[in-house]
Amino acid sequence: MKNLAKNFLVFFIIFLAMAAIFSTFSNNSESVKVGIETMIQELNQDQIKSLSVSGDTVKIELKDGSRQTVRKESGESLSSLLSNFQISPDKLNQVAINVQEPSGWLYWLGELLPFILPLFFLGLFFFLMMRSAQGMNNKAMNFGQSNAKEFDLNNKNQVTFKDVAGVKEAKEELYEVVEFLKYPKKFQDLGARIPRGVLLLGGPGTGKTLLARAVAGEAKVPFFHMSGSEFVEMFVGVGASRVRSLFQKAKKHSPCIVFIDEIDAVGRRRGSGLGGSHDEREQTLNQILVEMDGFEATQNIIVIAATNRPDVLDPALLRPGRFDRQVVIDRPDLKDREEILKVHSQKKPLAKEVDLKRIAERTPGFSGADLANLLNEASILSARKNKKVVEMEELFSAIEKVMIGPERKSRIISDKEKKITAYHEAGHALVAHFLVNSDPVQKVSIIARGQAGGYTLKVPVEDRYFHSRTDFIDEIAVLLAGHLVEKEIFGEVTTGATSDLRQATLVARSLITDYGMSDLLGPRTFGQKEELIFLGREIHEQRDYSEKIAEQIDIEILNFINQASVKAKEVLARHRDKLEKVAQALLTQETLEKEAFEALVGPAASLENKEA
Ligand code: ADP
Ligand code: MG
Ligand code: ZN
Repeated sequence: MKNLAKNFLVFFIIFLAMAAIFSTFSNNSESVKVGIETMIQELNQDQIKSLSVSGDTVKIELKDGSRQTVRKESGESLSSLLSNFQISPDKLNQVAINVQEPSGWLYWLGELLPFILPLFFLGLFFFLMMRSAQGMNNKAMNFGQSNAKEFDLNNKNQVTFKDVAGVKEAKEELYEVVEFLKYPKKFQDLGARIPRGVLLLGGPGTGKTLLARAVAGEAKVPFFHMSGSEFVEMFVGVGASRVRSLFQKAKKHSPCIVFIDEIDAVGRRRGSGLGGSHDEREQTLNQILVEMDGFEATQNIIVIAATNRPDVLDPALLRPGRFDRQVVIDRPDLKDREEILKVHSQKKPLAKEVDLKRIAERTPGFSGADLANLLNEASILSARKNKKVVEMEELFSAIEKVMIGPERKSRIISDKEKKITAYHEAGHALVAHFLVNSDPVQKVSIIARGQAGGYTLKVPVEDRYFHSRTDFIDEIAVLLAGHLVEKEIFGEVTTGATSDLRQATLVARSLITDYGMSDLLGPRTFGQKEELIFLGREIHEQRDYSEKIAEQIDIEILNFINQASVKAKEVLARHRDKLEKVAQALLTQETLEKEAFEALVGPAASLENKEA
């Protein structure tokens, strides 16, 4: 943009200069331009002293000393012009006529400039256009080339397995890949076929990309990195040719690793959807399959791909000889979380009393990326407070920030709204506290955070992978509690409970349709959830049940919600006094930590002193 403006300025200056020069040629400042009739008239009236002809210009000097110019038709001589007007020769005799040959180059310049100048500018314009288009042209020429990034092997900041915490099984599996790349002979001698593809499966932020880079770092081989979406461009056919060029590059550098990140972008089940970009993706996928089949046994190329949507992948990708090894990367458990925190806190000055285990305990469900983010947020918070080290306090606030969003202390709420929020959250907290299957309350707050007006933080005591029906009912009961309290205390509900209710309905529905936990509808799933590709993330549920069942599902959802509602009401009725206490405490203190909360309401429900 800056360049363009500069060019334009230069243009403009040149233009002005040319115009100035040109105007001095064409115009004689003192002489007045007149028409032929004027000249004839002047001749007849004997006003003219002399005429001088230069090319097509006739300069007139009048007897009173003023000057005029006349342009005549080119090619016609002055004398024939004058005789055409029937000027009498005796009148002409009184006038000095001299014919000047136009003076050399100046004349020609004057004549030609009007033609040359526009041509010149036109040419300049095209020249500049071409030059700027050249850059694009080069890009267009490289369009079908892969722009795979190669990791620098001499880089000191190489990622290795020791930078990846936890994920023990995945590391073991990938260690084998490293061995294949380092000592192929050892395996070939035993007749083992070297795996061609390894597929890393795992949720977002679980460290798939990190692991793939670590493999390259360990094996010390070239590593070509490309993301699935980079294959897909506006033009059909680009993807396939990029795949070809990527693998060509790889073959030249064998042994090496080709890493295709987010392969689901191109590797979706073929022929299942509509939409325009479909053919392109199919072609790209086909090309990947062709290339993977085309490796020769001696070519040590291992393709690693990563995805968090294994369910949408084309089955052809998963058959032996392609991505036959699949490595599942789970969300980190307690021990792994602690280790990830350790890895990422190495370069951060932590206070002595910081206990990463406690942070790990409070962060179930966090992915590696979340944990890295958490530590970063804690550092930022500490820096903002001008501290020299990161303390436990900042780490705890960072957890909440990552979980629910940043605190919005500045949001002004009226006293009335504050009161409603306090009772609402107290309701959630109490029910969560006194129901056996609910996770213990860590913190209750009426400070707005992210989208929420207030929040009740519950954290499971241990990592859990299975949930029972009672767990879900209790979860729904906790979700409903805010709504129930509002209704009871204030006589009507506010919109503050909307997301609670939506969540409760969602849980109740999955309970029936996904987990088969309804006695009425039996142990089966309902509905085939399918992602519609051209709509991106939209989930489309295909009904595989009748209208009648649909009605029953609706009724059953209501049953579950009622059941949970009764449970919540029971707890709230029994602990009515405590509800008041918590709400009042929230109104004065805004936030109650676990200890303060428990001091108010007594010990939590446990399986021993079962209440509900
Ligand atoms: P994805 O699975 O989405 O590809 P990434 O590999 O990009 O996730 O991980 C994002 C970041 O999270 C990494 O750069 C790293 O800082 C952190 N991370 C994730 N898992 C781990 C882990 N197991 N050990 C250490 N850091 C991790
Ligand atoms: Mg990734
Ligand atoms: Zn709520």
